[in-house]
Amino acid sequence: MSISQTIYDFTTFAIHYGEWMEMDRLYLQNRLLALVGEETLESESVKHSIEDLNVLDLLDFLIGIAKKNNVIDNSFSQKEQLEAKLMDFLTPPPSILNALFAQHYDDQPEKATDYFYTLSKTNDYIKTRAIAKNIAYSVPTEYGQLEITINLSKPEKDPKQIAAEKNAKQSHYPSCLLCMENEGYAGRTNHPARTNHRIIRMNLNGESWGLQYSPYSYYNEHCIFLAETHRPMVISQETFRRLLAIVAIFPHYFVGSNADLPIVGGSILSHDHYQGGRADFAMANAPIETPFTLSVFPAVQAGIVKWPMSVIRLSGPNANDLVAAADYVFNAWKQYSCPELDINAYSEDGTPHHTVTPIARKNGENFELDLVLRDNNISEDFPEGIFHPHRDLHHIKKENIGLIEVMGLAILPPRLVPELAEVKKYLLEQPNTIAAYHLDWANDLKKNNLINKENVETIVRQEIGNIFARVLEDAGVFKRDQKGRNAFTSFVNTL
Ligand SMILES: [Zn+2]
Repeated sequence: MSISQTIYDFTTFAIHYGEWMEMDRLYLQNRLLALVGEETLESESVKHSIEDLNVLDLLDFLIGIAKKNNVIDNSFSQKEQLEAKLMDFLTPPPSILNALFAQHYDDQPEKATDYFYTLSKTNDYIKTRAIAKNIAYSVPTEYGQLEITINLSKPEKDPKQIAAEKNAKQSHYPSCLLCMENEGYAGRTNHPARTNHRIIRMNLNGESWGLQYSPYSYYNEHCIFLAETHRPMVISQETFRRLLAIVAIFPHYFVGSNADLPIVGGSILSHDHYQGGRADFAMANAPIETPFTLSVFPAVQAGIVKWPMSVIRLSGPNANDLVAAADYVFNAWKQYSCPELDINAYSEDGTPHHTVTPIARKNGENFELDLVLRDNNISEDFPEGIFHPHRDLHHIKKENIGLIEVMGLAILPPRLVPELAEVKKYLLEQPNTIAAYHLDWANDLKKNNLINKENVETIVRQEIGNIFARVLEDAGVFKRDQKGRNAFTSFVNTL
């Protein structure tokens, strides 16, 4: 590749995706030239079609030139910032992008999200190469196909980067990673580069919200809906109303919210947001196990879902009915206690412990709203949470069970890749350095299976799936034994 040809080809991408015109070519080429520290374009370039080119290869080449010219150093953040600046040329300004999105939407909602999703991948806002490193598979369990992802996509920080972050000036702009002020933000040592980031504006019941994709997505078209104002997560009647409004706007997407209490919530409780996408997880496919009726809302169908966590599914064609019914169930749950099962709505000092993880989807003409009942109490026996993965499972998963896990997709930490390699060696009786905390589990595996080189991978994967099912059972407030089922039934009978 020559510098001139690369800049020429990159400009071809910019014109196509960034809504520039051929007349802008010289201007764009000169801007790119300056950004990578070059002064002249020499050779005559050949026009290639974008189908024959890989834009990320072009980007890598340009970054290499910039490094050689000392425009950037070897640090992760300088590279990331220049990448985002270059990819910004492939990205229309917010106003144009929003207008194009609306135009596609008028044709068909899928076309609008297809357009924005493709753009977000092409301009490297969604880190497709990093995501490809994840290990992902699904395993059959009594609750359907559970999905497992070992997350290897988040950039590893080298010691230099960690030191640079430590010394970086603290700033409160943008207030958080989900604030709209990130749109176009150049980034700094301790805040990611967002020059190529765009947000679709939408009106949700009179409030301004945004739609963007997740840069390190865990599933197909993993998107984020965020409030325009930086305000804490709250589950309320308005949440249910907004979730149903979102699936009315995007009937091909599901959307859910993390719970609004620590232990049972997600990692960002400081900015009101939801996560959605075009994916069907095991919970969405799980059937109703026990139907029941809500006497106050006869038009709404209700039932307990066959799932390791405690889920009430409401469905019906009328969104307003569903919002009212969901709010009714939610308020009943916030007050419900069953001390015998360690389920307690409030501490003695009045601190509330009950909330829900709600997930909405369209199913034909019907709206569906799943309310996953959550309780964040801790006890002497379970200091991390009574309804949180228990300690015997921490060798695989000890993080919070948030929205994504609740639905049946386990996000497991990267440490498991080297650790499970040692577990496999141990199972095959090869020299190994198995971690002590995997030993009990590995010995059980050995006892219960005839393990050889051919089946060791399958057995370990299946057992990780079984552990994930148990993780979800630990997070379930009404256990699936007779006592738990009776209590769940008596709770829904009060509704
Ligand atoms: Zn924020």
